[in-house]
Amino acid sequence: MIEIEKVNKWYGDYHALVDVTESVARGEVVVVCGPSGSGKSTLIRTLNRLEPIQSGNIRVNGQDIHAQNIDLNAFRSGIGFVFQQFNLFPHLTALENCTLAPMHLRGLSAKVAQEKALSLLDRVGLADKASAMPESLSGGQQQRVAIARALAMEPPLMLFDEPTSSLDPEMVGEVLLVMRDMAKEDMTMVCVTHEMGFAREVADRILFMDAGKILERATPDDFFNRP
Ligand code: ADP
Ligand code: ADP
Repeated sequence: MIEIEKVNKWYGDYHALVDVTESVARGEVVVVCGPSGSGKSTLIRTLNRLEPIQSGNIRVNGQDIHAQNIDLNAFRSGIGFVFQQFNLFPHLTALENCTLAPMHLRGLSAKVAQEKALSLLDRVGLADKASAMPESLSGGQQQRVAIARALAMEPPLMLFDEPTSSLDPEMVGEVLLVMRDMAKEDMTMVCVTHEMGFAREVADRILFMDAGKILERATPDDFFNRP
């Protein structure tokens, strides 16, 4: 589903991604870990073209996503992105946050979009918060709304960039639980996270980055049990 080929990325003269080559198969759950500043966030942001690259290729579903002539909106509609900061629309309710894109980008009627959003809010344990404004929700609840919002586009691919890093410790578990359920449903997921319990339990593969390179690729068993 994702093919990354010899990708190089510079910020000015800082070489943030160094000849990165990797692929992710459909249905795979890949966890990207590594020290702060190693390029994890940069890598995941290149996968939906939030960051440009200077050389190499990235194909998602066979499409060269860094090509000049790509339809960015159409392409991004197929990718759910969950950020460290939840980035909800502050003036919209939880439900409205989840219906906006499906109505405008997928052309769903308000009724269909709302039914769908309600079932997604139910799925992330927030059926009773549909009419709540983001500021009245806890961080963990806001992040679950953000996940429901991403899922509302029915994307074949979900990207997570440190989805629990800005949460209070007691809220991390509720977000990981939702992510764990998604992983079980055959969703293709790439997750930048420091949650090694999640990686051990849920990942098909773990990538370890350092200084802009993927230094290790391993199954959780190999990654955690190596001498
Ligand atoms: P990680 O997610 O592993 O913490 P990042 O991908 O955020 O790492 O950053 C990798 C390196 O690139 C860091 O040294 C960071 O300071 C640098 N960097 C990230 N974004 C920018 C930017 N917009 N401009 C300049 N340098 C950046
Ligand atoms: P994250 O790792 O979650 O991206 P950071 O704190 O590394 O969080 O980065 C936050 C924002 O600041 C990002 O948009 C990133 O591109 C930018 N940034 C990070 N490092 C630098 C840097 N050295 N110079 C300029 N911008 C940077």
